[in-house]
This record gives sequence, C-alpha cells and structure tokens, in this order.
Amino acid sequence: MQNPKRYLITAALPYANGLKHVGHLAGAYIPADIYARYLRAQERDVVFVCGSDEHGTAIPIQARKEGTTAQAIIDKYHEAMQQDFADLAIQFDIYHRTSAPLHHETASAFFTQLEKAGELETKETEQFYDPEAQSFLADRYIKGICPACQSDRAYGDQCESCGRSLSPEELLRPVSTLSGATPIKKKTTHWYLPLGKHEDFLRKWILETHETDWRPAVVGQCKGWIDGGLQSRAVTRDLDWGVQVPLPQANGKVLYVWFDAPIGYISATKQWAKEHGKDWDPYWKDAETKLVHFIGKDNIVFHCIIFPVMLKLGGYILPDNVPSNEFLNLEGDKMSTSRNWKLDMRDYIDDFVKKENGGGQVVDMLRYYLTQIAPETKDSEFTWKGFQDAVNSELVAVLGNFVNRTWVLMHKLCKGKVPPFHPARADEYDRALTEQIRSTTETVTQHLERYQFREALFAVIDLARHGNQYMQRKEPWIVAKRLEQEPEAQQAIDNCLHLCLQLSANLAILGNPFLPNTTKTLCHLMKVVDRMLEWKNAGRIDLLKVGYSLREPQLLFRKIEDTEIETQLEKLKANLMSTETPAPAEQPAAKPTIQFDDFAKVELKVGTIVAAEKVEKADKLLKLSVDLGSETRTIVSGIAMHYAPQDILGKQVTVVTNLAPRKMRGIESNGMILMAEDRSGKLHFVHPDSSVEPGSGIS
Ligand SMILES: [Zn+2]
Repeated sequence: MQNPKRYLITAALPYANGLKHVGHLAGAYIPADIYARYLRAQERDVVFVCGSDEHGTAIPIQARKEGTTAQAIIDKYHEAMQQDFADLAIQFDIYHRTSAPLHHETASAFFTQLEKAGELETKETEQFYDPEAQSFLADRYIKGICPACQSDRAYGDQCESCGRSLSPEELLRPVSTLSGATPIKKKTTHWYLPLGKHEDFLRKWILETHETDWRPAVVGQCKGWIDGGLQSRAVTRDLDWGVQVPLPQANGKVLYVWFDAPIGYISATKQWAKEHGKDWDPYWKDAETKLVHFIGKDNIVFHCIIFPVMLKLGGYILPDNVPSNEFLNLEGDKMSTSRNWKLDMRDYIDDFVKKENGGGQVVDMLRYYLTQIAPETKDSEFTWKGFQDAVNSELVAVLGNFVNRTWVLMHKLCKGKVPPFHPARADEYDRALTEQIRSTTETVTQHLERYQFREALFAVIDLARHGNQYMQRKEPWIVAKRLEQEPEAQQAIDNCLHLCLQLSANLAILGNPFLPNTTKTLCHLMKVVDRMLEWKNAGRIDLLKVGYSLREPQLLFRKIEDTEIETQLEKLKANLMSTETPAPAEQPAAKPTIQFDDFAKVELKVGTIVAAEKVEKADKLLKLSVDLGSETRTIVSGIAMHYAPQDILGKQVTVVTNLAPRKMRGIESNGMILMAEDRSGKLHFVHPDSSVEPGSGIS
C-alpha cells in the first residue's frame, strides 16, 4: 500500500506465564519497534500496540506450579514484561492486557457479532478430559507421539520436532501433562469458526495478492495450510479462566485464547484512543490504514489465516503485511525454557543495563546485535562471541570511532565549532562522500519500507565506515602540520570536518530507529533538538549550522571485554547443569504393561541406510532408502536436524517394518526408524553393536 493515511503496528502479544527471552525480542519486538520509530520520524500517523496475553490454560497451570492464583501470575508477568520492554527501549504507544474489562467487552462483542450473523457453528464433540485432574485438556496439555515424524515431542496442537500442526486425536499414545494420566473422552458442546468456508477468500488474498510482497516463508506456510484443507476451529472451550462466552447456554465456557488474544490488538487500540482523545475506529476500519503484524513464525497461522477470517467477518481491514521471523538459537542449540538454555531479556538487563549509569549504550548494543543477526529469512544464532565482535569491531571501531575522531579533531583544529565548507576547495572525495550520504538515505529508506531491517542497518554502519575511510584519505591531522607555511590549508581541514559533522548528523537520523540511545547522545553532542531527527532531513549536508559550537567529545560505546563473555558462557552452562530432571509433566508417563502378544505384533529388523536426501521444504525430514536384505524401502524420518544425509550412508538402524504406510510431504514412508533421544533432545540411532546382515530380525 503506497502512502497510507495511517499505520497500525502490532507486535505479538507475549504470553503472561513467564519472562521472555532475546529470541522473542529479535523475532517481533525489535523489528516492530524499528519500523514504528522510522514511521514516527516520517511524521506518519502511527500507533504501535502490544500487551500481555493473559488467558489460556497455561496461566492457571503456572499458578499451580508457583502455588498462587492465576490473577497473581498475570499481574506479576504483565508488570515484569512491560518493564523489560521499557528497559530495552521498545517504545509501544500502548502496552495493554487482555484481562482488562475493555478487552473482555471487545472480545465478547466480537463473538456475539459473529454468532448473530450465523458465522459460527456449534458441535457436540467428545473432548479429552483428564479424569485425575478433573479437567478438560487443552490441546497443548496433551503430549504424545507425532504421527508424521514419530517424535515424542508432539503436543495436541503442534509437533515441536517437525513443526506439523496437529489435533489431539492425531497423537499416538496421548498422555495428560497435568497428571500423566491417559486422557479419556467426554461430551461437550462448542462453537466453531468454519475456516473451510473461507478458503477461496484466503487463497485469493494471500496467494494472489500478497505472493510477492510477503516473505516467502510466510506465503509458503500459508499455502501449506490452505492446501492441507482448513478445518473448523473451536472458538470456545471448557475452562474457568478467560473471557466468558456471552450466551446463557454456555455457562462455564470461555473464549478460546487464540480467538480472544488477537482481538487484544483491537482493545489495545481502543484503550490508546481513549487515553489520547482519539477515535479508534479508522485504525481498524478505514481502508487507508496500513495494518502490519510483527510476529515469530510459530504465529503465522493465527495472523495470516484465522485472524484475517475473523477480521473480514467483523468488517475490519486486513493486514497489509505480516513480517514473520524465523527462530533465534543460542550458542549452537535451540532456546528452551524447560532446559534453561536461554537468555532472558531480564538477564541482559540485570547483567549489563542496570550495572551502567542509564545503560543506554548497552541497550543499543543488544538492539544492534539482534538486528544484525535477525532471523529474517532463516534461523540464526546468538553467540556471546558474536555479540562481542559486533560491538567491538562495528559499534566501537566503526561508528563510535568515527564520531569520536570527528569530535576530537573538530575541537583541536576548528575551535569546537562547525567549520565552513569552501566550495572552491571541494575535491572528488568530498563529492563522493556527499553522494554517499544521499544514496545511503535512499537505501536505508527502501530497506525499511520492505521490512529488511538487517540490510537497512548494514547500510547505516557502512556509511560510518565510509566516513572513516574519507577521514583516512583526507588526513586533516597531517594537513594541520603545514598550516604555518600554508595558512589556506585550513580550508581543506574545514571541508573535511564540516562533512564529517554533517555525516554524524545523518548517522543520528538514520540510526535512530535502531539505536535510539546512541542518537540521543549524538543530539547531546551536537546540541540539537529532536526536530532535526525528522526523516526528511536525512541526506542533507547542511544540518549543522556553520559557527555553531558543539560539546566536548564523549565515547558512544565501550568495548565488551573477554571476561564479560566468559562469565556469560559459564552462567549458561551452569544453568543447564542445574536444570533438574525434567518435571514429570514434561515427559510422557510410563506406558501401561503389555502382554508378549502385543509386543510380538511389532516387526523389527536391522536395515542399512543406502541413500539419504533432504525432503524439500521440510527442515526436519530426510528421505531414506533402507536395505532390508530382501527389499529396499523408502522411509521418511524426522532426523534432518540431527544428521546430514552424507554422514549416515552405510549406517545400520532398527526399523519397524510392519507399520502401516504413511504419506509425508507427498512421499510414502514404509516403516519407521527407532531413535534414542537424549536429555538435550538430540536423536541417536539404535543399532546392533557389530554389523549384521541387513534384514536380520530383532526380538
Ligand atoms: Zn512431527
């Protein structure tokens, strides 16, 4: 959408059951914040909303774990998350919460509108129920074996191993994570959103209209969902925590959290409008509003399939884009709360931000690194060494160094004032640098408009790099030695420092969305007010007036010392070591005793892997050809994250050979390979301790 009248920016509502880690920060909040700051600098009408997602079963469960009430849990984490975002300079226009009465009213009215219009269906179904905990079970609280990849890290909503979305019915050997009991089925009536009815709309809207402007991974996932057939989704559930279903016959039921949470964006906007004497309506209903959702990839289906259907039915606008990020790993492994392999925002705030006066520069260091490694197109990795390198070799050595040299030399050679520019003395380097400032502005703007935040940041740092190179070529400190014999050489010095100062002013403007604290320091050094930071000023080389006196130099960034990253690495290892054996709730309970006849039904053989290749568009799957002596079978296995195809040729493995064939990504899999999973979630082959003939039986 070109030149919309207004923007509504949303960042995924964080779930109020615990602190959030830097992966979340990199995935949704930093990119959204950069974009909102950029739009504000353009003086656009923009509202950036977020808030805590406070419903769903996980909240009462967390309360049970912490021995307190659900209300106490959400109050605690709402407060904590809001503070963490503020400490890391994420500048929402409003940070709301879904437990607020305004949200309950809004979500309730939304449901009523859809129900009255006949857009919802009711169905009596049998739902999983934990007879021990006496509670219906949320999808998420049923664990079992994934029917697609056979991983045991599969939940009733999604497989954590292959990413496939699941329903609890599809899980093999389901257990309740509340008590470890085997769930039973119990009858209950619920309201459903029939997504299948909207398939044509979704297909046209996403696959035709947004095929090129949305990120390929987002379009790809949507296509997968649509092609897989859209099922009706229950919008209500049996639970005593959430937004009450506003119908007398629905006593004791609440809105499903996935239904109420995105409506949280609307109620947040309403609250913001109330506080600012504005009308919220055009932000959600006027076609000239550009709605952009910033999320992580696990949220794509909700923001690209389900919520848009709700928005369409409710008479709201649809998102113009949904820039979704992939995942951020930590030091070579997936971030995990249960294994304590993570870096919470709070950890960084405690260890770095709070220890420094104001902490602005270390906040910008984290924002810088997380943007530089942003998982925009593929999973990426946070390493402390990488953090140190980014800070020391870019922020300190390039950006900080350029500004510092400029200020020191300007004070030494130009009396602390902005020197004049002498056009008659301008040379090719001056012209090239002027052009660089102009073209960088264009590049940064284009990347930001396309949600390419890493590229935009590269361009900003590159401009500082050009500044350093320019100064190196002009060598004003050498020219200064000739001044006594050649007083007119001052003009060359003036030109150099004039341009370096104008370049610094441009760095303040262009860097502001990414590094707001650094820009604040630069404005202080330049003695300018915020108005200079308007985006339209970028590219200009007359931002600082000639003769204006500037402040004494001040370092923008400090170095990150080796000892600091060593401390962090040790802490991470210690956290991992201290993680107790996973709570019983995390592991499938022991299975019931079986008779030999049951076991004898399973046919197990030793096979040799003779060919292996990656399955297209499935990160986790390998297509294997396994020699079983009398035959060679195709087996699709969810081990691609653990083994490279070339490394497993010739390996002997244990195969379940009489498992019914199953299609995965269009490939028929004839059998299953047994894997052992260690504490860290890594998979290992199970094989004979010395080589045997392929096809040998196991009993
Ligand atoms: Zn799976």
